Amino acid sequence: MKKHNFNPGPSILPQEAMDATVAACKEFAGSGLSLLEVSHRSKEFKPIVDQAEELFRELLDIPAGYKTVFLGGGASLQFCMVPYNFLEKKAAYLNTGTWANKALKEAKLFGEVVEVASSKDKNYTYIPKNFTVPADADYFHVTSNNTIYGTELKGDLDSPVPMVADMSSDIFSRPVDVSKYICIYGGAQKNLGPAGLTFAIVKEDALDKVTRPIPTMLKYSTHTANGSMFNTPPVLPLFTALQTLKWLKANGGIKQMQKVNQEKAAILYDAIDSSKIFVGTVTPEDRSLMNICFVMKPEYAALEEEFASFAAAQGMVGIKGHRSVGGFRASCYNALPIDSVKALVACMKEFEAKH
Ligand SMILES: *Cc1c(COP(=O)(O)O)cnc(C)c1O
Repeated sequence: MKKHNFNPGPSILPQEAMDATVAACKEFAGSGLSLLEVSHRSKEFKPIVDQAEELFRELLDIPAGYKTVFLGGGASLQFCMVPYNFLEKKAAYLNTGTWANKALKEAKLFGEVVEVASSKDKNYTYIPKNFTVPADADYFHVTSNNTIYGTELKGDLDSPVPMVADMSSDIFSRPVDVSKYICIYGGAQKNLGPAGLTFAIVKEDALDKVTRPIPTMLKYSTHTANGSMFNTPPVLPLFTALQTLKWLKANGGIKQMQKVNQEKAAILYDAIDSSKIFVGTVTPEDRSLMNICFVMKPEYAALEEEFASFAAAQGMVGIKGHRSVGGFRASCYNALPIDSVKALVACMKEFEAKH
């Protein structure tokens, strides 16, 4: 049976990216060797990193003065690398959920942290508005898409100080004004590639400004100066990510992705809003296009398990909600076909008709 992959991460990737990876694992770029056994400094592999950086620049319209580096350690390591490299005295953080909290907690190890606003009072079901970012902060950190709670910033905020964003789960899903940020980072495993790869887009003139010593591997400038080759980068995930970037370009780029993502989300949110048994968990204006959360209405709460098995039997994978929200979460990343969303809606309607 066809599986519809709504996994939150690691998650669905373009079939083309996976096919190209399988082929390269058999033989890589005419080298007579597998991708898994070539040197990262070989003439065959070097272009992979260069092309990935170039496609980041092209697809996200990254201005001059920025570099993209490819690292290990996940978005979670960025939670400490960001303050290590950019926090001299004070940083501002917007608390929109679990990941934002983890980022904030690490920053406290390096200086004063101002939580400008939090949506914890309503279990992170909305994005706080009307807060003030201190003008003397070194940076303002946001989590652009809250993978667990299904809320998303609808565009780039205005801030009196440069911003830093964790875009792990919505990078390449919408255009971004990169010039507002000194750092945009994320784990690849939501919308870009397999687990094991982390990207960071950093503004070069914001680097090496803090007075503290920074261990070599945790210093962004180590990696910008060495083209992500200071040590061995995650070779296989980088190769796959490059294939995803090529797929993005061949399929109309980010504006087109955004259009399709809006269509997919509208189909699913409409089905949720018109349902007699399901209800969305997020304030409508802050709903994520990437992670769509819904629960059973209280009077149908007893049917949750039954719907989970019903959906699984129809090929729906990964729709169980995160334990801190419960219910269901359908992650609709770039590579998820619109037909999968339609199949999920059909499945919800069929279930509803039975009850
Ligand atoms: C998944 C996720 C993370 C954690 O990423 P790791 O690569 O596992 O460290 C951080 N932030 C957001 C928004 C995420 O979705």
